[in-house]
Amino acid sequence: MMFAGNLQLNGHHVLIAGEPRAARRAVARYRAAGAHVSEAHDPGTAERQLNAAHLIRLVVAVDDGNAGWAVLEKLAASQAILISHEPAAPGEGSVTLLGGGPGSSDLLTERGVAALTAADVVFYDRLGPSHDLARLAPGAALVDVGKAPGHHKVPQARITELMIESARAGNNVVRLKGGDPYVFGRGSEELADCRAAGIQATVIPGISSAISVPGAVGIPVTARGISKGFTVLSGHDPFTEQELGHMAGFGGTLVVLMGVATLEQTTAGLLRHGLDAGTPAAIIERGCTDTQRSTRATLGTLAEAARSARCSNPAVIVIGGVAALGDRDLELQSLIPAVAR
Ligand code: SAH
Repeated sequence: MMFAGNLQLNGHHVLIAGEPRAARRAVARYRAAGAHVSEAHDPGTAERQLNAAHLIRLVVAVDDGNAGWAVLEKLAASQAILISHEPAAPGEGSVTLLGGGPGSSDLLTERGVAALTAADVVFYDRLGPSHDLARLAPGAALVDVGKAPGHHKVPQARITELMIESARAGNNVVRLKGGDPYVFGRGSEELADCRAAGIQATVIPGISSAISVPGAVGIPVTARGISKGFTVLSGHDPFTEQELGHMAGFGGTLVVLMGVATLEQTTAGLLRHGLDAGTPAAIIERGCTDTQRSTRATLGTLAEAARSARCSNPAVIVIGGVAALGDRDLELQSLIPAVAR
């Protein structure tokens, strides 16, 4: 963050000097850090405020292109007040589709952290590092558009509308998504909608749960001699017979997202299409979070194991030889019935 040094800002008086639009992000950020913020929108006002207010410890000079602010340097120096310079917030709003990774905030990319730091508004849901947003996006309004399965809090079309409206108002909008925006994240649709509305929109990749969640319990999606490929599927709707036939014959690792509700149909279908009942399988719930849990089974026993363990979303299902690998000692096995481990 662009706070001057390690100044403790809580309760301290900070003067933010700059044209209001250019200064808005600095104002939001310093307020969020607990400072008493006053604003000066022109050099004359700044001068009067500095001369009158003896409590001001820091002047934040926003580079809005006004040469008149040079007067602040001298004034601040003569009163031994710290001065920090900040770039102007862009006048044009934008939308950033941010892949937040599987849940733990330290699995965000550096680019993702920078986008959150500079955000005016963050639209988030229950996936990704949403619990940590107050810290990661201190200057942003946080809007929960989350969807519990079957409960669409804010319909998708409305989310896009809200993002576009907010960007049109000049905001730096971040749409935080779990994993990667392009893996069942509606990233391409939202990007196209924003661009069609004339809004500058970019995508920041994230670590997809499809790979990282199995990895969190030591299951590699590929392993030499066991699996030379993996396919990532959405289990949101039941698979068709044709799809099940291809999946059963694939020979590599099957990774199913959003597949808890259809698990029984999936495993029965794969068995029907000839995939061996002894094929290792696993379901990993809330991977990379502190409530992560994994259930190991075989294709023949997975549905029953998931039912007994009351497995729920979000979860990643892995079917294939690699599902027998991993650090089982580290996993919570106590809830799992006596299935093939
Ligand atoms: N874009 C996301 C996927 C969105 S679809 C990504 O790349 O990861 C939502 C599904 O992702 C969930 O239903 C679940 O199957 C999976 N998922 C996301 N985060 C998860 C996590 N931390 N643990 C287990 N599954 C997760």
